[in-house]
Amino acid sequence: MVTAVVEAVLGELAKGGIEPGKYAYVKCPECGLIQDAANAHCARCGHDLTEARRGMFATYEKQGVKPTLHSTPPPPASKQPDLREK
Ligand SMILES: [Zn+2]
Repeated sequence: MVTAVVEAVLGELAKGGIEPGKYAYVKCPECGLIQDAANAHCARCGHDLTEARRGMFATYEKQGVKPTLHSTPPPPASKQPDLREK
């Protein structure tokens, strides 16, 4: 059941967002960039975000809460630290 809901949410994202003008954020596990969850791949390092998105929405579903929707896009990559840089 959870999987079906997650797939539905990901389908919504693929169509251009959960709600018009709203953004769900997802964090890249590779470089730490917080970005629009509609991205299939990280905007900075190209990491495949499928698992991160799936995990995020599965967690929300398990907790019975909706993803946090933001009215603005995430800050640009240049304003966020790169976890790969030591
Ligand atoms: Zn990344």
